Amino acid sequence: MSMKFQLLSKGQYKNIPDKLTIGRIPTVSELDYVSGDEFDRTLIDVVLPAAVEEKINFNDLLEVDYQLLCRAVRIANFGPYHTVNVILCDSCGTSHRGEYQVDLTTIECVPLPDKFTNEFKISKDEFVDFNSTIIFKLPTIQKILNAHKDKAFQLADGRINRELARICYMISEVGSASGLTPVEIKLKIETELSAADYKLLKGAIQDSADFGLRAGGRATCPECADPNAAFISISEDRYFRPTLDNLRKWKQSRTTSTPK
Ligand SMILES: [Zn+2]
Repeated sequence: MSMKFQLLSKGQYKNIPDKLTIGRIPTVSELDYVSGDEFDRTLIDVVLPAAVEEKINFNDLLEVDYQLLCRAVRIANFGPYHTVNVILCDSCGTSHRGEYQVDLTTIECVPLPDKFTNEFKISKDEFVDFNSTIIFKLPTIQKILNAHKDKAFQLADGRINRELARICYMISEVGSASGLTPVEIKLKIETELSAADYKLLKGAIQDSADFGLRAGGRATCPECADPNAAFISISEDRYFRPTLDNLRKWKQSRTTSTPK
């Protein structure tokens, strides 16, 4: 079993080819026991190096490529079926709760722009008072995992302010200042941006960097059978723990689609 996988960011990496070859994940791995950021670490350090033929540093993948690769490895090894607990239906105007089997291939992916260079500019014209241009980049998965545990972004209750940490790890230049550390960016945001401008900054980053897998896909409504109902499935640990029903449905669909 092996399949070719195309990265979103073609030609962006020095040491990673545009196409990877996906094979089997280890039969038994720590994936069954870990969660949260530890889960991503296990994927990056143990599972992906075993499942991908090419020897690359998975830490260097852009987060958008990492998420797409994880979905591809999941589907190749466990099939596309996944169990979620909520289906949202516009026709019914409500959400349904239960256990629903959905198809991960219905999650769409927004490609990167044609002349993608991974440098996004937020002009000073977008702010109310702030008077500098801000430049940011799509983060690598390594940066995001670092941001998630950076104590400089700890809140009073001990949790990390992941939203702010993420933004500070993405920004590379503020006005004429480049090569700033995430902590220096944080200081600039806290001292130089008004509350309104901080909101505008978050919005601008969200709007201009909205690429890669969507947060959910399409499913059939269990109540009215509308095929355009939606489910949410952020890439998380449960992703790699399919239920027996998910696997049996996959087996069944493979059997019926194999020509006799
Ligand atoms: Zn419905």
